[in-house]
Amino acid sequence: MKPYDTLIVGAGLFGAVCARRALDAGRRVLVIDRRDHIGGNVYTENVGGIQVHRYGAHIFHTNNETVWNYVNRYARFNRFTNSPVANYKGELYSLPFNMYTFNRMWGVVTPEEAARKIEEQRQAAGITEPRNLEEQAISLVGVDLYEKLIKGYTEKQWGRDCRELPASIIRRLPVRLTFDNNYFNARFQGIPEEGYTCLVQRLLEGAEIRLGVDYLPEKQKLDGLAESVIYSGPIDAYFGYVYGPLEYRTVRFETEDLPIPNFQGNAAVNYTDRETPWTRIIEHKWFTFGLDQEGKETEHTVISREFSAAWRPGDEPYYPVNDEKNAALYARYRDLAEKEEKVLFGGRLGEYQYYDMDQVIARALAAEL
Ligand code: UDP
Repeated sequence: MKPYDTLIVGAGLFGAVCARRALDAGRRVLVIDRRDHIGGNVYTENVGGIQVHRYGAHIFHTNNETVWNYVNRYARFNRFTNSPVANYKGELYSLPFNMYTFNRMWGVVTPEEAARKIEEQRQAAGITEPRNLEEQAISLVGVDLYEKLIKGYTEKQWGRDCRELPASIIRRLPVRLTFDNNYFNARFQGIPEEGYTCLVQRLLEGAEIRLGVDYLPEKQKLDGLAESVIYSGPIDAYFGYVYGPLEYRTVRFETEDLPIPNFQGNAAVNYTDRETPWTRIIEHKWFTFGLDQEGKETEHTVISREFSAAWRPGDEPYYPVNDEKNAALYARYRDLAEKEEKVLFGGRLGEYQYYDMDQVIARALAAEL
């Protein structure tokens, strides 16, 4: 008999929820991760009372009540609402696109005036059926806001022209004719008060965890330890890139701990012009309203500038590039994956999907383990 029933490769959200389910079903579970910590990209670490989102901002939001109830069993969530500010060459705009944004851009005051302005600009651009991100953006918010708040940011984020990107990326953002700065259309939203690492730790309670273990180079030996495998790493890497690599975007962070209490007054400020090399600056303390775990105000602040780049071997993959070319390539890898009887592929990298955290959890809860 093998020492474990289930080997879980990757201690991120997909792996952790699968681990929890397997443990609750009485299975013996081994979780491995290449990094020296659990949590995958939702990992947070305490830096002088501030929970730092080491791999980029993670704001939990969902319409799925089952998922919301599920995560609330393992962590207490605060009432954080994401309201990023866009900085275009020193002009500040509210996000997502709402009446404050339209007022700042055009001086319009009523929803009717804003709607008319957007419609005028859409018609002038001659767009009826948007075929790419640029056309979709112009038809949603008009050309002025596209130029100032979307074009530069998106080209930095994805490294290509907005006309070569799928419209779906921009449909992630709401457009509202109300004064509502909530970035997400979600019934439930918040940040785990003790950080995501703590949430993942609770999910993994009872599993054996081995950190700093790279699966693929030791695949045969590790596979020998368990009856089945749950793999949440990149699907193309699993198959040795036989059909060529899928495209990802990677992110590099420059993090600073500053001896001041307030750097930018908000958790996220997006730099939407093309010239500023970073896409956004995150000021981590505002995810918990400037308070540490004891509820005390912190005197310092930690900020991270975020730089986006094309993924190359050795980099961390963050975002799948879900365009047609990559979707076709992924379909070929998925066919291979379906033939791997004892392996379940999941998560952002295992399924090559731009999943949010709640979608990853929903997939893990629905998976046949
Ligand atoms: N976006 C933009 N300007 C902004 C914020 C977002 O043009 O100020 C576009 C950009 O193309 C981005 C997409 O909207 O890739 C989705 O943004 P979201 O905030 O959902 O991205 P994430 O937080 O997952 O990086």
